[in-house]
Amino acid sequence: MSRISEILDYNRKFVEDKEYEAYITDKFPFKKLAIVTCMDTRLVELLPKAMNLRNGDAKLIKIAGAIINHPFGSAMRSVLVAIYELGAEEVIVVGHLGCGMTGLNANQVISSMKKRGISDDVFNTLENSGIKLENWLHGFDNEKDGVIHTVDIIKKHPLLPPGLPVHGMLIDPTTGKLELVVNGQEHI
Ligand code: ZN
Repeated sequence: MSRISEILDYNRKFVEDKEYEAYITDKFPFKKLAIVTCMDTRLVELLPKAMNLRNGDAKLIKIAGAIINHPFGSAMRSVLVAIYELGAEEVIVVGHLGCGMTGLNANQVISSMKKRGISDDVFNTLENSGIKLENWLHGFDNEKDGVIHTVDIIKKHPLLPPGLPVHGMLIDPTTGKLELVVNGQEHI
């Protein structure tokens, strides 16, 4: 059975059995939190459980490494929409130990792309358009620096409401233990 038909079969039963009823809520984050975190598979269930988040509690924005590099990219837009449209009053950036974005090797990724059939022409065209893949595919040297960097980008954003706390944390992807890296209350 293909992955998609497996999902659809499961889904039919999920809806029929009204399993969704346990999750009904609305789009406004009950705990007034926006959380920027990593797409790591180990955090899918662990992070909400370890932070006591239930459905409806927080806006969860997931990006590789929890890294926001572009002040006007879609991740930062999500943070601003969470604040202005959906009522988030605090932002928490949650990086994690053992993140795949630590020491991400851009050249290795590029060589995998080539092996999967992306031609040199494509790389030349991108380079000529001023896109620096080496920078774009760069992660961070250590997870703590990654969190501090993203907190900084959000904190310094010209459209962030003044006084809105932006915190930084690291989570252990095995135990769920949180470490406070940046206390946003102290930086207002
Ligand atoms: Zn990660």
